[in-house]
Amino acid sequence: MFNLNNFLRPHILSLTPYSSARDEYTGTIGVFLDANENPIGSTTNAGDYNRYPDPHQWAIKQRLAPIKGVRVEQIFLGNGSDEPIDLLVRATCVPGKDNILIMPPTYGMYEVSAAVNDVALIKVPLTPDYQVDTEAVLAAITENTKLIWLCSPNNPSGNLLQADAIRRILEAADHSLVIVDEAYIDFANTPSWTTQLDTYPNLVVLQTFSKAWGLAALRLGMCFASEELIQILNKIKPPYNISAPTQALALEALLQASRKDEMVAQILSDRQVLAEKLRSLPSVRIVHPSDANFLLVQFDDAKQVFDYLIEQQVIVRDRSKVKLCEGCLRISVGTHEENERLLEVLWQMNGNPILSELPVING
Ligand SMILES: *Cc1c(COP(=O)(O)O)cnc(C)c1O
Repeated sequence: MFNLNNFLRPHILSLTPYSSARDEYTGTIGVFLDANENPIGSTTNAGDYNRYPDPHQWAIKQRLAPIKGVRVEQIFLGNGSDEPIDLLVRATCVPGKDNILIMPPTYGMYEVSAAVNDVALIKVPLTPDYQVDTEAVLAAITENTKLIWLCSPNNPSGNLLQADAIRRILEAADHSLVIVDEAYIDFANTPSWTTQLDTYPNLVVLQTFSKAWGLAALRLGMCFASEELIQILNKIKPPYNISAPTQALALEALLQASRKDEMVAQILSDRQVLAEKLRSLPSVRIVHPSDANFLLVQFDDAKQVFDYLIEQQVIVRDRSKVKLCEGCLRISVGTHEENERLLEVLWQMNGNPILSELPVING
């Protein structure tokens, strides 16, 4: 049975967090001489930013909780998803002793965060159809495996991971935290794992404002977990990790969830059109099915296509050297105009006599 107290690093359990001025007095009316702020104003005409922001972002959490079907105490907000990714490693993994498990090909930050924290990494590749190799994962877990990262829909393959496999790992690996990164969940036709938080105390779900909400520049990530774990993340985060402008903009964005849904619907319909048109190109071998806002596309010669696209100032992500993604480029669904430009350049390349004379190299 999962017990957070046996699981966290001992010094994290016992540490006294920084107590900010805004923690010690939480009223909003009064004469505030407690935080050494500038009382006069800000050196910008864009607004008043001279006061520290709410360290716990209660207004956002109150608006977010009903949208996500969770309690406010189950929400942690980070400076992008990168912040909870790092905090989870730091809260749980003793460097040189504990390890984390990832399933490549997947999002690069899990590995970076392990490396930054000097934590060992166990890699259990996804199957060739980008699903969890459940038996291999369960066989690879050790008693020191603290975190198991699952990305669903997965980046860069774009597909959802099978729910049965995730459930099996949640149940079998009850001495690890199982984190489901749902950065692309809004583009997938499936319920979020947040619906299972009360069933699995070892479940953590990550989402972000960077993709469907169209707020990548704000840097705002969401982490949903048990109240106990959220309290720990709050204890070790930098006190004012979400800036006031980010809080204000997110609060306003949450009133316009329908705008997000409209954009998602458009991106999904454009994804379909783009996938079909890509499939008709002679240079394209496979357009992998996608539950996200991008397509993983295998070309006859990915390097040549990538270089030609760059020359034409169309920038995609080269994943062709990544294991199980050989020959693949990852292409975000753009606007109609951007998608048309991409296709135009790809057709132009096909018709280019110099380029089409080059030998096609397999792989
Ligand atoms: C884009 C992405 C994120 C989001 O990161 P932010 O720091 O919130 O912008 C998280 N996980 C995956 C798998 C992603 O592709």
